Amino acid sequence: MRLGIHMPLKGGFEKNISRAKAIGCETVQLFPGNPTGWRLGAPDPVLFEKRASLLDEQQIYPLIFHSAYLINLATPSPDFLQKSKLLLQATMERAAMYRSPYVVLHTGNHGGQGVEQGIEQIIKTIDEALPHWPPAVKLLLENTAGSGTALGSSLEELAVILKSFPPGTLGVCFDTAHAWAAGYDCGSRKGIEELLEQFENKIGLEHLLVIHINDSKAACGSRVDRHEHIGRGAINLEGFKALLNQNWPADFPFILETPEIGSDWDRVNLETVCSLLE
Ligand SMILES: [Zn+2]
Ligand SMILES: [Zn+2]
Repeated sequence: MRLGIHMPLKGGFEKNISRAKAIGCETVQLFPGNPTGWRLGAPDPVLFEKRASLLDEQQIYPLIFHSAYLINLATPSPDFLQKSKLLLQATMERAAMYRSPYVVLHTGNHGGQGVEQGIEQIIKTIDEALPHWPPAVKLLLENTAGSGTALGSSLEELAVILKSFPPGTLGVCFDTAHAWAAGYDCGSRKGIEELLEQFENKIGLEHLLVIHINDSKAACGSRVDRHEHIGRGAINLEGFKALLNQNWPADFPFILETPEIGSDWDRVNLETVCSLLE
């Protein structure tokens, strides 16, 4: 496994990479642009190539792109859907320019049109977009806390979407704080073992490609998405320990998305996670 953080945009790419390296990151995640905006800046292939080379030099991989929160493939609004499609396409292309293999996407909010309808729309939208995506970049659906009309908080819902495509077309990014909020017990060895077994049976562990390792301020099953520093929230360290010490592939990324990203808390959280490794 490889351990890293979600990198802030503030301060600039190069500075943040050297900081991430200095505190021991082996992988990083970033937003391709303002996470609450509809547009990415104009592409600059020379600059992006330079940045990709810097990551190579620093041995930081994989680079993971987290798509903007605005993108919602399950939205009932045609205008919103059109904007979502364009921004997702741009994000996939941007990831390819950085030689990033993964784009993480929150599964979506059906906005009142219903779970079935929402999931159907996600599948249809991805199916139409797939031929236009760079082949080296894979879309990973992130499980959600399940608040409001959010889809993808259960392994079952993720499985329905993934299984609509040939195996390996899409992957999953699993967030511990979201799973916890959605009612999965991530805080005990038994809970983690059951969760991984369910994942294997319903989706297949080979499709789990990134883990967001976050503690949660909210209670298990609360459907509230509030991340906390590792060991300071409601999820017991026993669960994190059990999760981290599975037999993960050598380049499998664990990403911290804990509060106050960009502060010294990054180092503290990385140290806490490292202390759990056996
Ligand atoms: Zn996310
Ligand atoms: Zn996450």
